Amino acid sequence: MASNDCLFCRIRDGVIPAKPLYRDEHCFVLEDINPQAPTHLLVLPNRHIPTVNDLQAGDEALVGHLFTTAARLAAERGISGSGYRLVMNTLEDAGQTVFHLHLHLLGGRALGWPPG
Ligand code: AMP
Ligand code: ZN
Repeated sequence: MASNDCLFCRIRDGVIPAKPLYRDEHCFVLEDINPQAPTHLLVLPNRHIPTVNDLQAGDEALVGHLFTTAARLAAERGISGSGYRLVMNTLEDAGQTVFHLHLHLLGGRALGWPPG
């Protein structure tokens, strides 16, 4: 998919107005538009990568950066101690709806397990 056709690429580029909470040379962070918990953020690579299936060996540092960024945001939101969930849905059975890799950070309430 060309990045023109990707919602999150368009947000990244400012074509669709949205205010990233954070951005750096590798990633950016959005408030989820339909939050499922008091904290529900999305941590996204700047580069268009559709799914986990498309990651290459050279992307390992990038994926680690998404996780350390999420952990820092959890600390800033005060949920490091109470706990939180990091989720990356992949394709239909997991309910992926936007095909630009994103790490969900969910917290601020007790989360059920297993997920539906
Ligand atoms: P997934 O189902 O894992 O692909 O997650 C996609 C997420 O993107 C959902 O939680 C949506 O609520 C969220 N979302 C969709 N459009 C936007 C948007 N414009 N800004 C922020 N989050 C969005
Ligand atoms: Zn994209």
